[in-house]
Amino acid sequence: MVKFARRERGVKVLKAVSSPLRLKILNLVFDKSSLSYTELMNSLNMNPSRDAGRFAYHLKFLLKADLLEADTESKKYVLTELGKMVLDIADRVEKKADKPRGMLVRTSHFTLEEFDANKIANSLIKEAKVPPELAKKAAKETEKRLRKSKTKYLTAPLIREVVNTILIEKGFEDFRHKLTSLISAKDTGRDSATILSKAGKNVLSEYTLLNVFPRDISDAHISGAIHVTALGTWILRPHEVMHDLRFFLKHGLKKVSPLQLFSEPPHSFESALSTIFSVLLYTNRETDMQTCNFFNVFLAPFMKDADVVAVKAKKAIGPHGKICGKYGDFAEESQLLATLIIDLFIEESSSKPLLNPKLVLKINKEALKDQKGAKAPVFSSFGCKLEADLTGDWETDTLRTGCLGMVTVNLPRVVQESEKDSNKFFEILKERFEMAARALKIKYRAIKQYGKYLFPFLTQKLNGDIYFRIEYCSRIVNFAGFKEAVESFCGNSLSSEDTINFAEKLVKNLLVFKRKLSRRYGKRLFPSILCSLESSVKLAQLDIEKYGVAKVKFSGTREKPFYSTTRRLNLELGDFPYISSEQLELEQKLKGLSVGGNLSIIELSDNEFHPMQLMKLTEHLVRNEFVEFFTYNRVSTYCDSCRKSWFGVLHKCPSCGSMSTLTKFDRFTST
Ligand SMILES: [Zn+2]
Repeated sequence: MVKFARRERGVKVLKAVSSPLRLKILNLVFDKSSLSYTELMNSLNMNPSRDAGRFAYHLKFLLKADLLEADTESKKYVLTELGKMVLDIADRVEKKADKPRGMLVRTSHFTLEEFDANKIANSLIKEAKVPPELAKKAAKETEKRLRKSKTKYLTAPLIREVVNTILIEKGFEDFRHKLTSLISAKDTGRDSATILSKAGKNVLSEYTLLNVFPRDISDAHISGAIHVTALGTWILRPHEVMHDLRFFLKHGLKKVSPLQLFSEPPHSFESALSTIFSVLLYTNRETDMQTCNFFNVFLAPFMKDADVVAVKAKKAIGPHGKICGKYGDFAEESQLLATLIIDLFIEESSSKPLLNPKLVLKINKEALKDQKGAKAPVFSSFGCKLEADLTGDWETDTLRTGCLGMVTVNLPRVVQESEKDSNKFFEILKERFEMAARALKIKYRAIKQYGKYLFPFLTQKLNGDIYFRIEYCSRIVNFAGFKEAVESFCGNSLSSEDTINFAEKLVKNLLVFKRKLSRRYGKRLFPSILCSLESSVKLAQLDIEKYGVAKVKFSGTREKPFYSTTRRLNLELGDFPYISSEQLELEQKLKGLSVGGNLSIIELSDNEFHPMQLMKLTEHLVRNEFVEFFTYNRVSTYCDSCRKSWFGVLHKCPSCGSMSTLTKFDRFTST
């Protein structure tokens, strides 16, 4: 008898929620915690006089079934425990029935998971200390909105954004703050411009992953099979611009937007400098990096008593944009300028390392000679290289163009996936190379189409000629963990013969892929090994997460693992420091990867050197044709209160003993 009565009550409850209107009432009360008779009617868009009878009938039904109760004090309706439970069940039933249309979420582990509101609620309770009731509400609301948006699939940051918005709307700024600060606890840049730019880049990264890239590229980027550099600006601007300052010295600054300065061709050294400054300033808004090639040479004719070289024989643009002889006539001035610039850098960096701008020095005197067939490669400070490989004319091929973008392929991942099977390895490698080329092509199309609006300064025209030649830009397919990958594939260090052979085979194959893919993806698609701060740590961490620390060969330490993205030359110390012939031979064998760029890094560590020793070392390197572009590097520590710096990593200032005023400088840390 008891059992029968219980079942009857159960049926009554189920009957109560069998009407869409009654279910809606329960949901409304759940959302607002409590609602009065009138509030409920208003929320349901019901007419107080016309619909009163119908509404009262349904309300009574819910009260009788013990799903709702009236709070005598506030005169509002609230859900009973049973009401909450029924709503939860109804929700689950709805979800189950809705299965085929379930939303998918990408996780950082490269898999797709089904959307689960409980997970959101749990993380809100755990991480942001949001009260459980509220967490459930926010999670439910998030789910509702995401379903409404009809997004095909979601990513964790996108979900977080929606949760944050809902928490703000509900007035729970405090919880949102806790959640956000937890997410970006490591960030230091907190000024408004940085935050604004970071937030914008995050949104655009999301947008690019969700709406621009095909799913395989997005998955590969999130899982760490590849890394798209500067994803937040991928569809907005080129990565690097190589300037031809003569364009502006000759024509002055044209007004390309109402806010921009207009100026005549410069008439003096000062005005030439100010023109160049404006060029850098405007371009800074339209690219990630910029290089001024022949800075001293092009500026030389503006030096006092006005009046080097391919440029030497070119007509020189002097004050007022007028031709005034050839650049070769200004050899002295340009050398004087170079010396002045170097002196300035020495002075500026005497106490604190100067990291920006970077100075690129051309040591080969013949590099600028205007001979037929003479090639003058141009390097940017990060190692991107352009030479006369397209039209054969170095001016057209190296200036007023640049590097479109860079996608880094995770090489050790390819080793893991191939299970050290050589055929499989090269098959996967080719697939990744193609994927990187595709991402670059997508970038090209996007910025080619909208360049006029996105970067008006770079796309300014003179007699129908656009300043920046985007179609000549190089596209870099970068390789992270080259050393780690070949060593782990062969189980031997990169000094052993079979490992070197495999490295050579790898380079050869990459060049074959390049040739095949170039037909579809542009002649200037280059495989390279270039420093990538963004990817070297990230890719190693993702691999360790995926395969376990024991199965991954990485550089650095267990606490700070990374994959190498730089080419380093180790110094052999003696009376005069030098680079061993074995290392130089290896450089020669890998030179196929130097076409689009390269930068060899020579660590000076804590060693003190006499200037003569470094001069000899430099000569030794310049004479070797396989080391085209190199830099010396030292880690140094700077004390902000003493305004002094020391070699190496220090934890305490040797002068004032302070620990909190120290900053470590290392251009290539963890790369
Ligand atoms: Zn100090």
